[in-house]
Amino acid sequence: MESQKQHPRSLSFEFFPPRTSEGVERLRAARRQLGQLRPRFFSVTYGAGGSTRDRTLETVLETRAEGHDAAPHLSCIGSTRADIAQTLELYRSHGIRHIVALRGDLPSGAASAGELRYASELVEFIRATTGDWFSIEVACYPEVHPQARSAADDLRHFKRKIDAGANGAITQYFYNADAYFRFVEECEALGIDVPIVPGVMPIGNFSQLARFSDACGAEIPRWLRLKLQGFADDTASIRSLGLDVVTDLCDRLLAAGAPGLHFYTMNQAGLTSTIWQRLGL
Ligand code: FAD
Repeated sequence: MESQKQHPRSLSFEFFPPRTSEGVERLRAARRQLGQLRPRFFSVTYGAGGSTRDRTLETVLETRAEGHDAAPHLSCIGSTRADIAQTLELYRSHGIRHIVALRGDLPSGAASAGELRYASELVEFIRATTGDWFSIEVACYPEVHPQARSAADDLRHFKRKIDAGANGAITQYFYNADAYFRFVEECEALGIDVPIVPGVMPIGNFSQLARFSDACGAEIPRWLRLKLQGFADDTASIRSLGLDVVTDLCDRLLAAGAPGLHFYTMNQAGLTSTIWQRLGL
């Protein structure tokens, strides 16, 4: 963890672009609450093939208008080089200088994977077309991406993204701190020295969490899964245990030198701000 300790601490919150006017209002309220915690930036997700492009940009611009830094995500799957170049120009024309670059996942039934196959190719493309204009974050997977052939392969592919010019990384969420510590040590051994910020998923709803985790390859430890499952629809108990577990996790990560935390907020402020307060940040 030595190389991680040299980076300034970065705290950030992720949103998805809302679909409805009620969603927009709920997000505004969440942003007001979370904005008081003075994060380094907010980030806004991007749907495969550009399906949320306008709403992602709108959410980013509204966040910036409130005085916060905001980074749009950009995924390459299902898109052509021309589509991506156009989106980069659009971001640049609004003075956006910080993006999260991803491959994305193809929705079922989608016809074409697009012209760039992997996020490393997207990072190369961004650097080739826009030079150093953007600061680029990429994703990484302490518990291994579900489609990777092996953990070693996945790590090599992560390094490609850094070698292509990414400035930092945000991890998929995890509940096993040791997976993160080991991953960071392996990155250091390969000479990767960009900040690797843990992604944190607060726990508020067990069935949703189980569904996400199965899809993205994040492990819910057996004891935790069984306890959460045992609470059935007793939301108060789920949230209470979830807050204890996730606060302890964040505490351990920061104490060991993690260069910050990136919260997957699901557009809700409550759990994230409670964790933050308990951490005394
Ligand atoms: P990549 O780095 O391209 O890796 C994908 C898989 O391909 C891995 O298994 C990797 O090992 C393998 N691979 C990479 N390069 C090669 C190669 N050259 N040859 C063979 N195999 C290779 N999704 C969205 O749609 N929108 C979002 O806004 C979004 N935001 C996210 C934010 C964060 C912080 C994270 C962690 C994930 C996010 N995702 C988002 C999900 C992400 O798109 C998926 O996890 C996706 O499956 C992989 O994206 P990636 O950028 O990590 O892909």
